[in-house]
Amino acid sequence: MCLDIDDTLIDCTAAIRLSLSALTGQNDLWPLWDLITEEHVALVVAGEIDYAIMHHKRTECFLAEIGILADEEQVKGFERRRREILTRSWQLFEDVLPCLEWLRAAGVLVAAVTNASGAHQRKKIADLGLARFFDHVAIAGELGVAKPDPAMFHSVCLGLGCDPAQAVHVGDKLDTDAIGARDAGLGAVWLDRDGIAERAPAGVHTISGLDELPELLVSEFAKLGVPAQRATETPAFTVRNGVL
Ligand SMILES: [Mg+2]
Repeated sequence: MCLDIDDTLIDCTAAIRLSLSALTGQNDLWPLWDLITEEHVALVVAGEIDYAIMHHKRTECFLAEIGILADEEQVKGFERRRREILTRSWQLFEDVLPCLEWLRAAGVLVAAVTNASGAHQRKKIADLGLARFFDHVAIAGELGVAKPDPAMFHSVCLGLGCDPAQAVHVGDKLDTDAIGARDAGLGAVWLDRDGIAERAPAGVHTISGLDELPELLVSEFAKLGVPAQRATETPAFTVRNGVL
């Protein structure tokens, strides 16, 4: 089981919204920040800049877009204060711990698969007590490759010791997570928390919360060996009439 981190397990959007409004006094800047982030992450994925430079340039660009001409020290100061607020604000979605506990009880190997820089993401994972749930952690900033590149998904499968066809990836981004995983040969699940999906693309399953994941794994993916790996020796769960 491969799980994206940001906005799949951790409510990053809420924390970033909070940090932006605290620092600017405006509540409507998230879409601009998200757009600028996407553009700058694309440069990282293309290998043009590293994450440290991206963080600085993104903030510089954001400040310029809202009409603040900041010198290098002011950009660094804004970014530092933004990170301090974020670190205090990270929260897991309510459905995360029950899902992770279920996966552990079911004997499913679990990997974190995230497009972010290593240091920040590892701190976030540790601060929120998530590290104990992961058998493998794949961070784009450490690997030099990012979702949706199939190489990212295949390195995770290598880390878990399984074939891509035995793995399922869940994430909140349709292209980066779900379609990327599908095209890399993994089972693909789009976590559509906002319910914006009208119809999932071919080969992609859609759920609106992680509370729906156990049933989906059992009904759609158990035949691939995902939750059934250890069930042949000591069943950690049983399914009767479709009920766990
Ligand atoms: Mg995400």
